[in-house]
Amino acid sequence: AGGAMVRFLSAVIPGDGIGKEVVPQAIRVLDLLEELSDDIEFSYRYFPWGSQYYIKHGRMMDENGLRKLEEFDAILLGAVGLPSLVPDHITLRELLIHIRQGFDQYINLRPIVLLDERDCPLKGKKVNDVDMIFVRENSEGEYSGIGGVFREGSSEEIVLQTAVFSRRKTQKVVNYAYQLAQKRKKQLTSVTKSNALNYSMVFWDKIFNECGESFPNIKTDQYHVDAMSMHMLRSPELFDVVVASNLFGDILTDLGSVIQGGIGYAAAANLNPERTYPSMFEPVHGSAPDIEGKGIANPVAMIWTVKLMLDFLGQGELAQLILKSIRQLATEGRKFLTPDCGGEATTQGTTDYLLQVIRKNI
Ligand code: ATP
Ligand code: MG
Repeated sequence: AGGAMVRFLSAVIPGDGIGKEVVPQAIRVLDLLEELSDDIEFSYRYFPWGSQYYIKHGRMMDENGLRKLEEFDAILLGAVGLPSLVPDHITLRELLIHIRQGFDQYINLRPIVLLDERDCPLKGKKVNDVDMIFVRENSEGEYSGIGGVFREGSSEEIVLQTAVFSRRKTQKVVNYAYQLAQKRKKQLTSVTKSNALNYSMVFWDKIFNECGESFPNIKTDQYHVDAMSMHMLRSPELFDVVVASNLFGDILTDLGSVIQGGIGYAAAANLNPERTYPSMFEPVHGSAPDIEGKGIANPVAMIWTVKLMLDFLGQGELAQLILKSIRQLATEGRKFLTPDCGGEATTQGTTDYLLQVIRKNI
């Protein structure tokens, strides 16, 4: 009625294992949002890439894959990996890292939000005590892939694994984190290990402090990663926006998923903030071959990932609607959660309930 129609075209890569089971649930949510609002339209194109594709074609994705994905507003990815048939490093390098690097998705965003006290393994923590968001460097650092093996096999063998921190990328990541802090509680924590990593992390600290000069109203603190792991468990309420390098961010966000109630709630976004290329939205969990086909995969992480996509596409209200409804599922509808979160529902059943809640909330 009246307003211009907004159309979003997403590339969808369901991938392997439970990726194929949770992606359709996320699409059901988007379809409902389209039905309930009269000025937004989602369309999708599916790409059958992943391990089955690898077995047939000898590659994880089409040779011109990146070019095919370029035209989309966003990429939704379930999970890839079939460790019994395809080596993990191929899955990772040829698809996930290929897309993240090819599209310069240098920010990995990971909300760590406790929905209900009953989900938290920490004693005496209230819902508001766990509400942080990680900004993880996603394209270089410790995962640059640079290194070498010298005098291989000999008793003098030496292996090097090089971490790369460019001024350009570090600045962009840190700056992104400051800007995010500006929109939230004006508080930013940086995680390093500058007492032991005397080049990389000292440099990180320097950039962090330099960037901070443009954000005088942001309260900052800096923790070493070992102390940070302790504080996250003891006093998660100390943190709001947290910025960390690739490796430290990877480890700490897994820890974070535990204090928010498990990997079934862990959503992530790989962002290219300049929007030169599409960003990619994928839950933290993998293809979970151990529960594939049982119909018990938790769809919440994938649906929360769609929430992050809507935020990025400028649909903040719809994003909030999803999060509010997920929260209601975890508080009022606990038996409609999947078994990993203590419920008794199937993948489908959890989504059925969530769709009802969304209908009521709109
Ligand atoms: P990857 O290397 O791709 O991260 P992984 O084997 O390390 O894979 P997952 O595939 O995430 O990790 O599985 C880890 C454990 O968590 C498994 O026991 C799996 O069943 C469980 N799990 C992961 N995702 C979900 C989900 N959405 N719902 C329920 N259980 C899940
Ligand atoms: Mg894993």
